[in-house]
Amino acid sequence: MKFYMPVRVFEEKNCVISHSADLAALGKKALIVTGKKSAFANGSFDDVKTALDKEGVSYTVFSDVEENPSTETVINAGRKYAAQNIDFVIGIGGGSPMDAAKAIALVMRHPLADLDYLYDSTKDPSALPVVCVPTTCGTGSEVTGVSVLTRHDRKTKISMVHKVYPDIALVDGKYLATASPALIRNSSVDALAHLYESVLSAKADAYTKMTASEGLRTWAKIKDCLTGDKKPGEEECADLMRASVMAGMSIAQSGTSLPHALSYTLTYDLGLAHGLAVGIFLPGFLEAAPEEKRNYFLELSGFSGTDELGDFIGKVLVKPDIPTEELEKTFEAVRNNKAKMNSASFPVDEKMLEKMVYDLP
Ligand code: NAP
Ligand code: ZN
Repeated sequence: MKFYMPVRVFEEKNCVISHSADLAALGKKALIVTGKKSAFANGSFDDVKTALDKEGVSYTVFSDVEENPSTETVINAGRKYAAQNIDFVIGIGGGSPMDAAKAIALVMRHPLADLDYLYDSTKDPSALPVVCVPTTCGTGSEVTGVSVLTRHDRKTKISMVHKVYPDIALVDGKYLATASPALIRNSSVDALAHLYESVLSAKADAYTKMTASEGLRTWAKIKDCLTGDKKPGEEECADLMRASVMAGMSIAQSGTSLPHALSYTLTYDLGLAHGLAVGIFLPGFLEAAPEEKRNYFLELSGFSGTDELGDFIGKVLVKPDIPTEELEKTFEAVRNNKAKMNSASFPVDEKMLEKMVYDLP
């Protein structure tokens, strides 16, 4: 067994500002990577700026990361900023800017890197140091080495092969105050998927179960705030973030499984939000798992069984009509992917996969 978690995680209110010295220890100039708008509205960018100003660290900003960032975006940005004497990269936002920050940090270290480089495991994986400041509560990208990128050449999303773990994750639930109920629901379901996929993974072991079990208990505390109309309060926002971090620590060990594999075509073709595209396959995935494997973890997360999970998912996710051809395409893509078919700790045959894909909540 192994447990590798090289990220220094600070999770507390105002941690970006209180850990300014840790940022300054990474160098004299930073590249801040964000999406187009949210970081400038939820206070995270201002906090990073305050922390850097306080320490006399200069910075430049790349705020052009799209949702589900593409390989073109990260390669172009990495090349552009490589010659600007930048020492480290700060990704602020949801999974999209944080994943982009990791890949940009890799390209900045290897400015000649092209698409093949990102997907060639024989190449040098070193990158500039990365700091992540999450502002959604689902991907856990702040504690994983994974960078999921859109491959327009393949019309889907594929993780870069190189692992770029952030040096520091600065986790503060206050940035969720501006998130819409749909964003919180989608991203919290993503965190739940990470937790279930991790404990039901072929690679699950005592250590992944340790982080995921506590993640599921923490997730159970915020479950009811996802169904009501009330915005989560300060304590709930902290729990939403904490569950997401623990979920990230869990998939950092085990990787994801079938619900994630099934999501990518739908996100690429239909633009479905990541948590939504993953979450619709969760009840079927749990249903396919043997009862003795799944029930304990369902209970930890506050569900009496797969029916209650299915009802919950049906209630919190707004599922659009998905054309049957899309589901067929998704089914085929995963059916033909041996690694994905074998990624769960229980055997999955075509019939089970069919049920997961066509019998949606
Ligand atoms: P996202 O794509 O980063 O952001 C979704 C939307 O939410 C964007 O419009 C963003 O605006 C906005 N937003 C972010 N924070 C906000 C806040 N606090 N208040 C209001 N709006 C906010 O969403 P995500 O679900 O966090 O990330 C999804 C990506 O992460 C996918 O590409 C997925 O494949 C990847 N992922 C990575 C891992 C990993 O281990 N690395 C795991 C799971 C998923 P702006 O664009 O203006 O910022
Ligand atoms: Zn995910």
